[in-house]
Amino acid sequence: SQHLAEVDPEVAAAIDAELHRQRDTLEMIASENFAPLGVLEAHGSVLTNKYAEGYPGKRYYGGCEHVDVVEDLARERVKALFGAEHANVQPHSGAQANAAAMAAVLKPGDTILGLDLAHGGHLTHGMKINFSGRLYDVAAYHVDRETGLVDMAEVERLAHERKPSLVIAGWSAYPRQLDFAEFRRIADEVGAKLLVDMAHFAGLVAAGLHPSPVPHADLVTTTTHKTLGGPRGGVVLCKQELAKKVDSAVFPGQQGGPLEHVVAAKAVAFKIAASAEFAERQKRVLEGATVLADRLAQADCAEAGVKVATGGTDVHLVLVDLVGSALNGQQAEDRLHDIGITVNRNAVPFDPRPPMVTSGLRIGTPALATRGFTGEDFAEVADVIATALTAGPELDDEAAAALRGRVAALTARHPLYPELG
Ligand code: PLP
Repeated sequence: SQHLAEVDPEVAAAIDAELHRQRDTLEMIASENFAPLGVLEAHGSVLTNKYAEGYPGKRYYGGCEHVDVVEDLARERVKALFGAEHANVQPHSGAQANAAAMAAVLKPGDTILGLDLAHGGHLTHGMKINFSGRLYDVAAYHVDRETGLVDMAEVERLAHERKPSLVIAGWSAYPRQLDFAEFRRIADEVGAKLLVDMAHFAGLVAAGLHPSPVPHADLVTTTTHKTLGGPRGGVVLCKQELAKKVDSAVFPGQQGGPLEHVVAAKAVAFKIAASAEFAERQKRVLEGATVLADRLAQADCAEAGVKVATGGTDVHLVLVDLVGSALNGQQAEDRLHDIGITVNRNAVPFDPRPPMVTSGLRIGTPALATRGFTGEDFAEVADVIATALTAGPELDDEAAAALRGRVAALTARHPLYPELG
């Protein structure tokens, strides 16, 4: 037989172990999710065999009649989902979607204005050794030290001082909504284009639970694997007038052959994201994040120096500020890992510690909501996290075992991928 388990038992065993890790732990990395079975099936299909440089109806290879169907479905579905005029579904990742979106409207040396990485921005929004920082002249805005909210007065001031060709709104670690109309107003004042990178909150937008950037922005990029819950990949949405520039920036500008198996999986994910079940799931995502923020704002946490950045959340994640706690970000991440909860340490704005250590955690609810977690389950998760983070410098064995038991009860309540045996 040619099945994986026989052809390559080592890889098969690692995949199996990963399935069990996902099942037996609480996955709370804010950028992760569990792709539904239909998405996994499309992804693991014979479409991976096909070269299809170009776009539906205009390919550089023969035999594209079926992948054309798939890519057209993906494009039409994502346009309908977000009310966009044009969509390119080929970017292999969020980073490549951003690279293409920028290349479509910028020349090397042009100025971009984005949120500082250390304040919740993404690498591709102008970090020094990322393509964005190497190709473009970067101006970065920040959050306000007191409120933790994006400082729109600074955005406006920098826009006038630095005259960017592109303003970027969007984030990887920020627990609040942005004012897209205000970003648009500022971009217009200085003649800049506006790119909104909605990678993190696209699923909330699709469900109508977060304002849409699409009416305001010239370009909107997203990943498809975070709140959207699809395969790993990227998308660029734009106004019709930029369609040609975006398409040629993706191919041949950034990429060769598209990953049509991934495009197929994206199409499936977009169909699911338009469903009532998906919207109901996103409601639980938000409910879970609010329940977590509320628990981490209680007195025991405050006394232990565990704080919620900005005082709460309007999205799928909570940014935990550990500047005054006995644990730094690394220690807190390790402690939660040790009891079966997977999160990532994350710098908080004005973090006194280096980026490999940090003084924060980013904790997200999308994956657990996909697993079926309800508000009641999230209350238990939140209490486990609060108990672990307030236990002081050492967590004794008995306390750790009790917390592991509570995690095991939660994972047992919501089986993951029962179809996979
Ligand atoms: N944009 C934002 C806001 C992100 O948070 C991320 C990933 O974390 C990306 C883009 C990049 O996505 P990818 O990892 O697929 O390149």
